[in-house]
Amino acid sequence: MGKLIPQLGTWVEREHGEVGYHVTQVLTNHGCFREYLYDIGKIDNRECLYCGEIDDAAHTVFHCKRWKEERKIMEEEVGRRLTPENLVSEMLESERKYKAVERGIIAIISTKEREEREIEEEEERLNP
Ligand SMILES: [Zn+2]
Repeated sequence: MGKLIPQLGTWVEREHGEVGYHVTQVLTNHGCFREYLYDIGKIDNRECLYCGEIDDAAHTVFHCKRWKEERKIMEEEVGRRLTPENLVSEMLESERKYKAVERGIIAIISTKEREEREIEEEEERLNP
Protein backbone atom coordinates (compact mmCIF):
# COMPACT_ATOMS: atom_id res chain seq x y z
CA MET A 1 0.00 0.00 0.00
CA GLY A 2 3.00 2.31 -0.31
CA LYS A 3 1.39 3.79 -3.39
CA LEU A 4 -1.35 5.28 -1.25
CA ILE A 5 0.81 8.28 -0.42
CA PRO A 6 2.27 9.23 -3.79
CA GLN A 7 3.21 12.78 -2.81
CA LEU A 8 4.59 12.45 0.68
CA GLY A 9 5.64 16.12 0.84
CA THR A 10 2.18 17.36 -0.01
CA TRP A 11 0.72 14.93 2.49
CA VAL A 12 3.01 15.99 5.32
CA GLU A 13 2.40 19.68 4.60
CA ARG A 14 -1.38 19.46 4.34
CA GLU A 15 -3.25 21.88 6.56
CA HIS A 16 -6.28 19.80 7.37
CA GLY A 17 -6.90 16.42 8.82
CA GLU A 18 -5.16 15.18 11.91
CA VAL A 19 -4.42 11.57 10.99
CA GLY A 20 -6.22 9.41 13.50
CA TYR A 21 -6.10 5.77 14.48
CA HIS A 22 -8.43 4.44 11.78
CA VAL A 23 -6.99 6.39 8.84
CA THR A 24 -3.46 5.38 9.93
CA GLN A 25 -4.44 1.71 9.79
CA VAL A 26 -5.60 2.09 6.21
CA LEU A 27 -2.62 4.14 5.02
CA THR A 28 -0.04 1.83 6.58
CA ASN A 29 -1.91 -1.43 6.02
CA HIS A 30 -1.07 -2.25 9.65
CA GLY A 31 -4.31 -2.90 11.43
CA CYS A 32 -7.32 -5.14 11.46
CA PHE A 33 -6.48 -6.68 8.08
CA ARG A 34 -6.03 -10.44 8.00
CA GLU A 35 -3.02 -10.36 5.72
CA TYR A 36 -1.22 -8.17 8.25
CA LEU A 37 -2.37 -10.24 11.24
CA TYR A 38 -1.18 -13.33 9.39
CA ASP A 39 2.20 -11.73 8.63
CA ILE A 40 2.78 -10.94 12.29
CA GLY A 41 1.74 -14.45 13.31
CA LYS A 42 -1.52 -13.65 15.05
CA ILE A 43 -3.76 -15.76 12.82
CA ASP A 44 -3.23 -18.72 10.51
CA ASN A 45 -4.89 -17.57 7.29
CA ARG A 46 -5.19 -14.34 5.32
CA GLU A 47 -8.74 -14.71 4.12
CA CYS A 48 -11.41 -12.07 4.69
CA LEU A 49 -13.99 -13.26 7.21
CA TYR A 50 -16.78 -11.87 5.05
CA CYS A 51 -15.92 -12.96 1.53
CA GLY A 52 -12.85 -15.24 1.57
CA GLU A 53 -10.56 -13.03 -0.53
CA ILE A 54 -7.14 -11.99 0.73
CA ASP A 55 -7.87 -9.23 3.26
CA ASP A 56 -5.69 -6.12 3.32
CA ALA A 57 -6.45 -2.42 3.65
CA ALA A 58 -7.22 -2.01 -0.05
CA HIS A 59 -9.54 -5.02 -0.01
CA THR A 60 -11.41 -3.64 2.98
CA VAL A 61 -11.76 -0.06 1.84
CA PHE A 62 -12.23 -0.49 -1.91
CA HIS A 63 -13.45 -3.99 -2.68
CA CYS A 64 -15.04 -6.08 0.08
CA LYS A 65 -18.77 -6.42 -0.44
CA ARG A 66 -19.38 -6.26 3.30
CA TRP A 67 -18.65 -2.51 3.23
CA LYS A 68 -20.67 -1.64 0.13
CA GLU A 69 -23.02 0.68 1.98
CA GLU A 70 -20.30 2.51 3.93
CA ARG A 71 -18.28 2.86 0.70
CA LYS A 72 -21.29 4.20 -1.21
CA ILE A 73 -21.97 6.89 1.39
CA MET A 74 -18.29 7.86 1.47
CA GLU A 75 -18.10 8.08 -2.34
CA GLU A 76 -21.30 10.09 -2.55
CA GLU A 77 -19.90 12.58 -0.06
CA VAL A 78 -16.55 12.81 -1.86
CA GLY A 79 -18.31 13.00 -5.21
CA ARG A 80 -16.44 10.27 -7.06
CA ARG A 81 -15.45 6.65 -7.10
CA LEU A 82 -12.52 6.06 -4.74
CA THR A 83 -9.49 3.94 -5.70
CA PRO A 84 -6.09 3.27 -4.12
CA GLU A 85 -4.70 5.69 -6.70
CA ASN A 86 -6.95 8.66 -5.87
CA LEU A 87 -7.79 8.23 -2.17
CA VAL A 88 -4.98 10.39 -0.83
CA SER A 89 -5.25 13.09 -3.50
CA GLU A 90 -8.97 13.37 -2.73
CA MET A 91 -8.19 13.68 0.98
CA LEU A 92 -5.68 16.42 0.22
CA GLU A 93 -8.06 18.36 -1.98
CA SER A 94 -10.21 19.86 0.76
CA GLU A 95 -11.02 19.54 4.41
CA ARG A 96 -14.56 18.56 3.47
CA LYS A 97 -13.34 15.61 1.41
CA TYR A 98 -10.81 14.65 4.08
CA LYS A 99 -13.59 14.49 6.64
CA ALA A 100 -15.85 12.51 4.31
CA VAL A 101 -13.14 9.89 3.72
CA GLU A 102 -12.25 9.81 7.39
CA ARG A 103 -15.88 9.26 8.41
CA GLY A 104 -16.17 6.40 5.94
CA ILE A 105 -12.94 4.78 7.11
CA ILE A 106 -13.94 5.10 10.77
CA ALA A 107 -17.33 3.54 10.01
CA ILE A 108 -15.73 0.60 8.21
CA ILE A 109 -12.74 -0.05 10.47
CA SER A 110 -14.51 0.36 13.80
CA THR A 111 -17.32 -1.98 12.74
CA LYS A 112 -14.80 -4.45 11.33
CA GLU A 113 -12.80 -4.49 14.56
CA ARG A 114 -15.92 -5.08 16.61
CA GLU A 115 -17.27 -7.83 14.36
CA GLU A 116 -13.90 -9.61 14.14
CA ARG A 117 -13.73 -9.58 17.93
CA GLU A 118 -17.24 -11.04 18.13
CA ILE A 119 -16.42 -13.76 15.60
CA GLU A 120 -13.21 -14.65 17.47
CA GLU A 121 -15.06 -14.84 20.77
CA GLU A 122 -17.70 -17.06 19.21
CA GLU A 123 -15.01 -19.38 17.81
CA GLU A 124 -13.29 -19.57 21.18
CA ARG A 125 -16.59 -20.40 22.83
CA LEU A 126 -17.27 -23.21 20.34
CA ASN A 127 -13.66 -24.55 20.30
CA PRO A 128 -12.14 -23.82 23.69
ZN1 LIG B 1 -13.91 -9.24 2.05
